[in-house]
Amino acid sequence: MDLLHGKPVAEKILQQVRDESTALVAERGITPGLAVVLVGDDPASSTYVRSKARMCESLGWKSIVERRAADMTEDDLLALVRSLNDDETIHGILVQSPIPSHIDYERVVETISPRKDVDGFHPVNVGRMVIGLPAQESCTPAGVLEMLVHYGIETSGRRVVVAGRSNIVGKPIANMMLQKRRGGNAIVTVAHTGAADLGAITREADILIVAIGRPRLVTADMVKEGAVVIDVGINRIDDPTSDRGYRLVGDVDFDAVAPKCSAITPVPGGVGLMTIAMLMHNTLRSARGDFR
Ligand code: NAP
Repeated sequence: MDLLHGKPVAEKILQQVRDESTALVAERGITPGLAVVLVGDDPASSTYVRSKARMCESLGWKSIVERRAADMTEDDLLALVRSLNDDETIHGILVQSPIPSHIDYERVVETISPRKDVDGFHPVNVGRMVIGLPAQESCTPAGVLEMLVHYGIETSGRRVVVAGRSNIVGKPIANMMLQKRRGGNAIVTVAHTGAADLGAITREADILIVAIGRPRLVTADMVKEGAVVIDVGINRIDDPTSDRGYRLVGDVDFDAVAPKCSAITPVPGGVGLMTIAMLMHNTLRSARGDFR
Protein backbone atom coordinates (compact mmCIF):
# COMPACT_ATOMS: atom_id res chain seq x y z
CA MET A 1 0.00 0.00 0.00
CA ASP A 2 1.40 3.41 -1.03
CA LEU A 3 0.89 6.45 1.14
CA LEU A 4 0.12 9.46 -1.02
CA HIS A 5 1.64 12.39 0.83
CA GLY A 6 0.62 15.92 -0.15
CA LYS A 7 3.89 17.58 0.82
CA PRO A 8 6.12 16.64 -2.13
CA VAL A 9 3.37 17.51 -4.60
CA ALA A 10 2.61 20.85 -2.92
CA GLU A 11 6.33 21.66 -2.81
CA LYS A 12 6.71 20.86 -6.51
CA ILE A 13 3.77 23.14 -7.40
CA LEU A 14 5.10 25.93 -5.19
CA GLN A 15 8.56 25.66 -6.77
CA GLN A 16 6.99 26.03 -10.23
CA VAL A 17 4.98 29.01 -8.99
CA ARG A 18 8.14 30.58 -7.53
CA ASP A 19 10.07 30.13 -10.79
CA GLU A 20 7.26 31.43 -12.99
CA SER A 21 6.64 34.34 -10.63
CA THR A 22 10.32 35.33 -10.80
CA ALA A 23 10.05 35.31 -14.59
CA LEU A 24 6.85 37.39 -14.50
CA VAL A 25 8.49 40.04 -12.32
CA ALA A 26 11.69 40.08 -14.42
CA GLU A 27 10.07 40.07 -17.86
CA ARG A 28 6.89 42.08 -17.34
CA GLY A 29 7.39 43.86 -14.01
CA ILE A 30 4.25 42.29 -12.55
CA THR A 31 4.28 41.28 -8.88
CA PRO A 32 1.27 39.07 -8.10
CA GLY A 33 -1.10 40.39 -5.44
CA LEU A 34 -3.68 38.48 -3.39
CA ALA A 35 -6.41 40.03 -1.24
CA VAL A 36 -8.14 37.92 1.38
CA VAL A 37 -11.29 39.22 3.05
CA LEU A 38 -12.09 37.89 6.52
CA VAL A 39 -15.48 38.73 8.00
CA GLY A 40 -15.83 37.95 11.71
CA ASP A 41 -13.38 36.24 14.02
CA ASP A 42 -13.78 32.50 13.45
CA PRO A 43 -10.48 31.06 14.80
CA ALA A 44 -10.07 28.40 12.09
CA SER A 45 -10.70 31.00 9.35
CA SER A 46 -8.17 33.36 10.95
CA THR A 47 -5.57 30.59 10.89
CA TYR A 48 -6.25 29.82 7.21
CA VAL A 49 -6.07 33.51 6.30
CA ARG A 50 -2.77 33.97 8.14
CA SER A 51 -1.19 31.02 6.37
CA LYS A 52 -2.34 32.31 2.96
CA ALA A 53 -0.85 35.73 3.71
CA ARG A 54 2.40 34.18 4.94
CA MET A 55 2.67 32.05 1.80
CA CYS A 56 2.23 35.15 -0.41
CA GLU A 57 4.89 36.97 1.54
CA SER A 58 7.29 34.04 1.23
CA LEU A 59 6.87 34.30 -2.55
CA GLY A 60 7.60 38.06 -2.43
CA TRP A 61 4.02 38.89 -3.46
CA LYS A 62 1.70 41.66 -2.39
CA SER A 63 -0.69 40.41 0.26
CA ILE A 64 -3.67 42.30 1.68
CA VAL A 65 -5.87 40.97 4.47
CA GLU A 66 -9.09 42.98 4.85
CA ARG A 67 -10.57 42.17 8.27
CA ARG A 68 -14.13 43.25 8.97
CA ALA A 69 -16.52 42.83 11.91
CA ALA A 70 -19.13 40.06 11.76
CA ASP A 71 -21.94 42.64 11.71
CA MET A 72 -20.76 44.37 8.51
CA THR A 73 -23.54 44.80 5.95
CA GLU A 74 -23.74 42.90 2.69
CA ASP A 75 -23.63 46.21 0.80
CA ASP A 76 -20.37 47.14 2.50
CA LEU A 77 -18.84 43.75 1.68
CA LEU A 78 -19.93 44.01 -1.98
CA ALA A 79 -18.44 47.53 -2.12
CA LEU A 80 -15.16 46.20 -0.70
CA VAL A 81 -15.05 43.42 -3.31
CA ARG A 82 -15.75 45.93 -6.11
CA SER A 83 -12.92 48.17 -4.90
CA LEU A 84 -10.57 45.15 -4.98
CA ASN A 85 -11.83 44.32 -8.49
CA ASP A 86 -10.71 47.82 -9.51
CA ASP A 87 -7.31 47.59 -7.79
CA GLU A 88 -4.76 46.81 -10.51
CA THR A 89 -2.16 45.63 -7.98
CA ILE A 90 -4.50 42.86 -6.84
CA HIS A 91 -4.83 39.81 -9.10
CA GLY A 92 -6.63 37.42 -6.79
CA ILE A 93 -9.55 37.99 -4.41
CA LEU A 94 -10.76 35.46 -1.91
CA VAL A 95 -13.56 35.91 0.61
CA GLN A 96 -12.88 33.41 3.38
CA SER A 97 -15.88 31.21 4.13
CA PRO A 98 -17.92 30.79 6.23
CA ILE A 99 -19.28 34.32 6.25
CA PRO A 100 -22.09 35.51 8.59
CA SER A 101 -25.51 34.21 7.56
CA HIS A 102 -27.04 37.67 7.01
CA ILE A 103 -24.77 37.99 3.94
CA ASP A 104 -25.59 36.11 0.73
CA TYR A 105 -22.35 34.22 -0.01
CA GLU A 106 -23.33 33.45 -3.62
CA ARG A 107 -23.91 37.15 -4.29
CA VAL A 108 -20.48 37.94 -2.89
CA VAL A 109 -18.84 35.29 -5.10
CA GLU A 110 -20.68 36.58 -8.17
CA THR A 111 -19.40 40.10 -7.44
CA ILE A 112 -15.75 39.00 -7.60
CA SER A 113 -14.39 39.55 -11.10
CA PRO A 114 -14.09 36.09 -12.73
CA ARG A 115 -10.51 37.05 -13.69
CA LYS A 116 -9.64 37.51 -10.01
CA ASP A 117 -11.68 34.57 -8.70
CA VAL A 118 -8.72 32.48 -7.53
CA ASP A 119 -11.02 30.15 -5.55
CA GLY A 120 -12.64 29.13 -8.85
CA PHE A 121 -16.12 29.49 -7.34
CA HIS A 122 -17.58 32.13 -9.70
CA PRO A 123 -20.30 30.68 -11.96
CA VAL A 124 -18.34 31.83 -15.01
CA ASN A 125 -15.32 29.78 -13.95
CA VAL A 126 -17.40 26.80 -12.88
CA GLY A 127 -19.26 26.86 -16.21
CA ARG A 128 -16.08 27.22 -18.25
CA MET A 129 -14.48 24.31 -16.40
CA VAL A 130 -17.54 22.09 -16.95
CA ILE A 131 -17.52 22.67 -20.72
CA GLY A 132 -13.77 22.19 -20.92
CA LEU A 133 -12.61 25.80 -21.44
CA PRO A 134 -9.59 27.27 -19.63
CA ALA A 135 -10.77 28.48 -16.22
CA GLN A 136 -9.75 29.10 -12.66
CA GLU A 137 -10.44 25.76 -11.01
CA SER A 138 -11.26 25.30 -7.33
CA CYS A 139 -8.16 24.73 -5.32
CA THR A 140 -8.88 21.54 -3.36
CA PRO A 141 -10.28 19.58 -6.34
CA ALA A 142 -7.43 20.81 -8.56
CA GLY A 143 -5.05 19.66 -5.83
CA VAL A 144 -6.57 16.17 -5.85
CA LEU A 145 -6.00 15.98 -9.61
CA GLU A 146 -2.39 17.10 -9.25
CA MET A 147 -1.82 14.37 -6.65
CA LEU A 148 -3.26 11.66 -8.91
CA VAL A 149 -1.08 12.83 -11.80
CA HIS A 150 2.04 13.21 -9.63
CA TYR A 151 1.72 9.67 -8.26
CA GLY A 152 1.07 8.23 -11.72
CA ILE A 153 -2.40 6.96 -10.88
CA GLU A 154 -4.20 6.26 -14.14
CA THR A 155 -7.70 7.76 -14.23
CA SER A 156 -8.62 7.27 -17.88
CA GLY A 157 -11.41 4.71 -18.27
CA ARG A 158 -11.38 3.83 -14.56
CA ARG A 159 -14.36 3.88 -12.22
CA VAL A 160 -14.17 6.92 -9.98
CA VAL A 161 -16.71 7.38 -7.20
CA VAL A 162 -16.92 10.81 -5.58
CA ALA A 163 -18.72 10.74 -2.22
CA GLY A 164 -20.11 14.25 -1.59
CA ARG A 165 -21.56 16.86 -3.96
CA SER A 166 -20.72 20.22 -2.40
CA ASN A 167 -20.06 23.14 -4.72
CA ILE A 168 -16.53 23.52 -3.38
CA VAL A 169 -15.33 19.90 -3.49
CA GLY A 170 -17.64 17.11 -4.69
CA LYS A 171 -19.18 18.69 -7.80
CA PRO A 172 -15.99 20.29 -9.15
CA ILE A 173 -13.86 17.20 -8.58
CA ALA A 174 -16.46 15.00 -10.30
CA ASN A 175 -16.54 17.38 -13.27
CA MET A 176 -12.77 17.56 -13.48
CA MET A 177 -12.45 13.78 -13.44
CA LEU A 178 -14.92 13.68 -16.32
CA GLN A 179 -12.94 16.01 -18.61
CA LYS A 180 -11.10 14.44 -21.51
CA ARG A 181 -7.65 15.52 -20.38
CA ARG A 182 -4.69 14.78 -18.12
CA GLY A 183 -5.90 13.31 -14.83
CA GLY A 184 -9.45 12.93 -16.18
CA ASN A 185 -11.37 10.83 -18.69
CA ALA A 186 -12.75 8.71 -15.86
CA ILE A 187 -16.12 6.98 -15.57
CA VAL A 188 -17.59 9.03 -12.74
CA THR A 189 -20.32 8.35 -10.19
CA VAL A 190 -21.31 10.91 -7.54
CA ALA A 191 -22.86 9.71 -4.27
CA HIS A 192 -24.61 11.80 -1.60
CA THR A 193 -27.19 11.48 1.17
CA GLY A 194 -29.73 10.35 -1.42
CA ALA A 195 -27.87 7.03 -1.69
CA ALA A 196 -29.78 4.32 0.18
CA ASP A 197 -26.62 2.19 0.46
CA LEU A 198 -23.47 4.29 0.16
CA GLY A 199 -21.20 1.24 0.52
CA ALA A 200 -22.76 -0.48 -2.49
CA ILE A 201 -21.67 2.50 -4.61
CA THR A 202 -18.24 3.14 -3.06
CA ARG A 203 -17.32 -0.56 -3.45
CA GLU A 204 -17.49 -0.10 -7.23
CA ALA A 205 -14.69 2.46 -7.19
CA ASP A 206 -11.23 1.88 -8.59
CA ILE A 207 -10.55 5.37 -7.27
CA LEU A 208 -12.68 6.54 -4.34
CA ILE A 209 -12.67 10.26 -3.53
CA VAL A 210 -14.38 11.07 -0.24
CA ALA A 211 -15.56 14.58 0.69
CA ILE A 212 -18.50 14.20 3.04
CA GLY A 213 -17.37 15.88 6.26
CA ARG A 214 -18.22 12.91 8.52
CA PRO A 215 -15.31 11.58 10.61
CA ARG A 216 -14.24 8.06 9.57
CA LEU A 217 -17.60 7.27 7.98
CA VAL A 218 -16.03 5.20 5.20
CA THR A 219 -15.16 1.80 6.67
CA ALA A 220 -13.22 -1.15 5.26
CA ASP A 221 -16.32 -2.98 4.02
CA MET A 222 -17.16 0.04 1.80
CA VAL A 223 -13.91 -0.16 -0.18
CA LYS A 224 -12.90 -2.57 -2.94
CA GLU A 225 -9.66 -4.52 -2.48
CA GLY A 226 -6.84 -2.68 -4.26
CA ALA A 227 -8.69 0.63 -4.62
CA VAL A 228 -7.03 4.05 -4.51
CA VAL A 229 -8.61 6.16 -1.76
CA ILE A 230 -8.38 9.95 -1.67
CA ASP A 231 -9.65 11.35 1.62
CA VAL A 232 -10.52 15.05 1.36
CA GLY A 233 -12.19 15.15 4.78
CA ILE A 234 -10.73 17.16 7.64
CA ASN A 235 -12.60 16.69 10.90
CA ARG A 236 -11.71 17.63 14.46
CA ILE A 237 -12.44 14.95 17.03
CA ASP A 238 -11.95 15.22 20.79
CA ASP A 239 -8.65 13.81 22.01
CA PRO A 240 -7.82 14.42 25.66
CA THR A 241 -4.30 12.99 25.10
CA SER A 242 -3.46 15.83 22.71
CA ASP A 243 -2.29 19.24 23.99
CA ARG A 244 -4.91 20.90 21.82
CA GLY A 245 -7.67 18.62 23.14
CA TYR A 246 -8.52 17.45 19.64
CA ARG A 247 -6.97 15.81 16.60
CA LEU A 248 -7.69 15.77 12.90
CA VAL A 249 -9.14 12.74 11.14
CA GLY A 250 -10.47 12.21 7.63
CA ASP A 251 -13.80 10.96 6.36
CA VAL A 252 -12.19 7.53 5.93
CA ASP A 253 -11.40 5.11 8.78
CA PHE A 254 -7.73 5.12 7.80
CA ASP A 255 -6.44 2.28 10.03
CA ALA A 256 -9.10 -0.16 8.83
CA VAL A 257 -9.21 0.92 5.17
CA ALA A 258 -5.49 1.38 4.40
CA PRO A 259 -4.59 -2.36 4.37
CA LYS A 260 -7.15 -2.94 1.59
CA CYS A 261 -5.92 -0.13 -0.65
CA SER A 262 -3.25 0.03 -3.30
CA ALA A 263 -2.77 3.68 -2.30
CA ILE A 264 -4.36 6.11 0.18
CA THR A 265 -3.92 9.70 1.34
CA PRO A 266 -3.27 10.31 5.04
CA VAL A 267 -5.10 12.94 7.12
CA PRO A 268 -3.43 15.19 8.01
CA GLY A 269 -0.60 15.30 5.47
CA GLY A 270 -2.55 14.44 2.32
CA VAL A 271 -4.93 16.56 0.25
CA GLY A 272 -5.08 19.33 2.89
CA LEU A 273 -1.58 20.55 1.95
CA MET A 274 -2.55 20.99 -1.70
CA THR A 275 -5.19 23.69 -1.33
CA ILE A 276 -2.87 26.58 -0.53
CA ALA A 277 -0.38 25.52 -3.24
CA MET A 278 -3.17 25.56 -5.83
CA LEU A 279 -4.33 28.96 -4.54
CA MET A 280 -0.87 30.37 -5.24
CA HIS A 281 -0.89 28.67 -8.66
CA ASN A 282 -4.26 30.29 -9.46
CA THR A 283 -3.09 33.72 -8.27
CA LEU A 284 -0.03 33.50 -10.51
CA ARG A 285 -2.24 32.60 -13.49
CA SER A 286 -4.47 35.60 -12.79
CA ALA A 287 -1.46 37.91 -12.50
CA ARG A 288 -0.11 36.57 -15.79
CA GLY A 289 -3.46 37.27 -17.42
CA ASP A 290 -4.05 33.68 -18.51
CA PHE A 291 -7.82 34.29 -18.56
CA ARG A 292 -8.17 37.62 -20.39
P1 NAP B 1 -20.29 19.76 2.77
O1 NAP B 1 -20.56 21.05 2.08
O2 NAP B 1 -20.86 19.53 4.13
O3 NAP B 1 -20.82 18.60 1.81
C1 NAP B 1 -20.84 17.28 2.24
C2 NAP B 1 -21.38 16.39 1.13
O4 NAP B 1 -21.32 15.06 1.60
C3 NAP B 1 -22.83 16.69 0.77
O5 NAP B 1 -23.00 16.62 -0.62
C4 NAP B 1 -23.60 15.59 1.48
O6 NAP B 1 -24.73 15.17 0.76
C5 NAP B 1 -22.60 14.46 1.50
N1 NAP B 1 -22.80 13.58 2.66
C6 NAP B 1 -22.79 13.91 3.96
N2 NAP B 1 -23.03 12.84 4.72
C7 NAP B 1 -23.20 11.80 3.88
C8 NAP B 1 -23.50 10.43 4.05
N3 NAP B 1 -23.68 9.89 5.28
N4 NAP B 1 -23.63 9.65 2.96
C9 NAP B 1 -23.47 10.17 1.72
N5 NAP B 1 -23.19 11.46 1.49
C10 NAP B 1 -23.06 12.27 2.56
O7 NAP B 1 -18.75 19.47 2.89
P2 NAP B 1 -17.51 19.98 1.97
O8 NAP B 1 -17.34 21.44 2.15
O9 NAP B 1 -17.62 19.41 0.62
O10 NAP B 1 -16.30 19.27 2.74
C11 NAP B 1 -16.19 17.87 2.83
C12 NAP B 1 -14.99 17.53 3.69
O11 NAP B 1 -13.82 18.00 3.04
C13 NAP B 1 -15.00 18.18 5.07
O12 NAP B 1 -14.43 17.28 5.99
C14 NAP B 1 -14.11 19.38 4.90
O13 NAP B 1 -13.48 19.78 6.11
C15 NAP B 1 -13.10 18.86 3.92
N6 NAP B 1 -12.45 19.90 3.10
C16 NAP B 1 -11.09 19.86 3.03
C17 NAP B 1 -10.44 20.81 2.27
C18 NAP B 1 -8.94 20.76 2.19
O14 NAP B 1 -8.38 19.72 2.20
N7 NAP B 1 -8.25 21.83 2.10
C19 NAP B 1 -11.14 21.81 1.60
C20 NAP B 1 -12.53 21.79 1.67
C21 NAP B 1 -13.18 20.82 2.42
P3 NAP B 1 -26.02 16.09 0.47
O15 NAP B 1 -25.62 17.01 -0.65
O16 NAP B 1 -27.05 15.13 0.06
O17 NAP B 1 -26.29 16.81 1.76
